[in-house]
Amino acid sequence: MSRSLDEFARGKLAPMEEAGLRRYLSVTERTDTIEVMRDGRRFISFSCNDYLNLSQHPALKQAAIEATRKWGVGSGASRLVTGNHPLLPELERRLAAMKGTEDAVVMGSGFLTNSGVIPSLMSSRDLVLADELAHACIMVGSRLTRGAEHRFKHNDLDHLEYLLKAHRGDHPRCLIVTDGVFSMDGDLAPVHELAALAKKHDAWLMTDDAHGIGVVGAGGRGSSFIGGSKAEVPLQMGTLSKAVGGYGGYLCASKPVIDLIKTRCRTLIYSTGLPPGVVAAALKALDVIEGDPEYAARPLKKARRFTRRMGLAEAESPIVPIVLGDTERTMAAQATLADAGYLVIGIRPPTVPDGTARLRLTFTAEHADVDIDALADLIRHKVLAAPETMATGGTAG
Ligand SMILES: *Cc1c(COP(=O)(O)O)cnc(C)c1O
Repeated sequence: MSRSLDEFARGKLAPMEEAGLRRYLSVTERTDTIEVMRDGRRFISFSCNDYLNLSQHPALKQAAIEATRKWGVGSGASRLVTGNHPLLPELERRLAAMKGTEDAVVMGSGFLTNSGVIPSLMSSRDLVLADELAHACIMVGSRLTRGAEHRFKHNDLDHLEYLLKAHRGDHPRCLIVTDGVFSMDGDLAPVHELAALAKKHDAWLMTDDAHGIGVVGAGGRGSSFIGGSKAEVPLQMGTLSKAVGGYGGYLCASKPVIDLIKTRCRTLIYSTGLPPGVVAAALKALDVIEGDPEYAARPLKKARRFTRRMGLAEAESPIVPIVLGDTERTMAAQATLADAGYLVIGIRPPTVPDGTARLRLTFTAEHADVDIDALADLIRHKVLAAPETMATGGTAG
């Protein structure tokens, strides 16, 4: 009976295999801040989103262990039933304070947050305008509204305003949504300008700070806090899965909005609350981030050391792309760097647009300067010096 299903799966995979786009999962052990083990080999990783290396921090491990001893490994139910253990409201208070909002809500992951929050606020009569490079889960959330969706050209305020003028009048409500820090390019959204446009056209602005919290903006408060004054962003979402070191997603907003999300958001209501140990670790992570602004600034400093040495536009975040264009060439570059002991994962379509396959490097607080310099020199001499490929620093700069 299942033969047709297996044939279907093989038939789908074959052309992807052909195009070098089939994906494989590699078992990877992370037991140290920057080193990983794969296939029996040790690498220095430039591909973890653990920007502050907090996933390995002794105080976070200790907090997770203690909370697990006290309350168990799981929360036991949805937060609306019995899964709302005492650490969750405490974490929400801390996140709201950090982001300068009245309230916050924490749920299973960043993906669940975007795919649940957007359709909780927007209906089939409404309009969602998203940056074309916004994360896949923003696109999923937008699609679930069953309303009108348009993508504006990456960070292009003129194109966004053109779309607002063309479509805003046809819909009762409009949401503008973007990554605050772009996950595959490392550049920043013009958050202040987006906030002004949203205000002018009576639209709501939502930013995804998955790669912003902990590492950009004053004290690691995120992309709304870059450049002195705080940008007016009524919907600030993010993840606890990257710089915060653990797992989970959040939305920071006004109290009425958070109350509505707790009542309507299906990915919160129909999904189990985060485990106590995960939440305890996130609370400890916020202690570290807020207690040591110099530490929170380190990943960006490391990325800038790399872009200076490479002669690229200055990094705006801890993410730096080396766009090679061609998929095969990108995977060959990944292998070249692996031979030298560096794990730098190649990113291929459809994660990035066709023709923009790239090495995506992430810099973390604990990376040693000597390794950063050695990697930069290796990329310049062994990857970029090879003929037929013109590399660029991606869309950043
Ligand atoms: C990683 C990521 C997410 C998803 O967060 P998870 O907690 O890993 O589910 C959402 N948005 C962006 C921009 C991301 O990079």
